[in-house]
Amino acid sequence: MVGKDTAAVIVEPILGEAGAIMPSDDYLAQVRAITESVGALMIVDEVQTGFGRAGSMFQYLENKVMPDIVTCAKGLGGGFPLGAIMYHGIDFQPGQHGGTYNGGPLACAAASAVLDIIEDEGLVKNSKNMGKYLMDGLDAHSVHGKGLMIGIDTSSGKDKALAMIKRQMIPIYSGDILRILPPLTLKKPHADNIIKVLNEVL
Ligand SMILES: *Cc1c(COP(=O)(O)O)cnc(C)c1O
Repeated sequence: MVGKDTAAVIVEPILGEAGAIMPSDDYLAQVRAITESVGALMIVDEVQTGFGRAGSMFQYLENKVMPDIVTCAKGLGGGFPLGAIMYHGIDFQPGQHGGTYNGGPLACAAASAVLDIIEDEGLVKNSKNMGKYLMDGLDAHSVHGKGLMIGIDTSSGKDKALAMIKRQMIPIYSGDILRILPPLTLKKPHADNIIKVLNEVL
């Protein structure tokens, strides 16, 4: 229960490891209203959704909700280990927060290059467009998610994943949900290939 003794509420804007499960449209706004009413911090975990993965730079921006803290990693380094937080209205002093993968000069240089490429190559828009293209091509199945963060309900995700690997495609799965998270640089011919393989396997 969230109440006056709650320090913070941490939420994913879209459930990632669980299988690209979408909340209702007003989910973040409701969490914001509840945390504000009890004086708890709202922490949005954008480690997976951030930097274009789910078709926008950040889900909290798209939902027009201002969290107190946003966590970032994965896409920020584009494969290079890096973690970061963004915060708003908290008076952190130097040394009050840290992490194993925070602030390394090489990782920060990699992230700076990644952010340039995301912008220069329009990868957020590409993620949104290609995600829609993939989901349209797979609409015979129970497909959910956003941008290039897609889950498909199936029976035995593991068997389906193994069948895809035999066709040179490596998905991940969460129980019975097959997870499709292709690179943000995905182009139409790649998407067509994913659709073809999935329609064979599912
Ligand atoms: C991968 C993931 C994490 C873990 O990030 P680490 O950098 O491995 O600690 C946290 N939250 C979400 C939503 C993730 O997908």
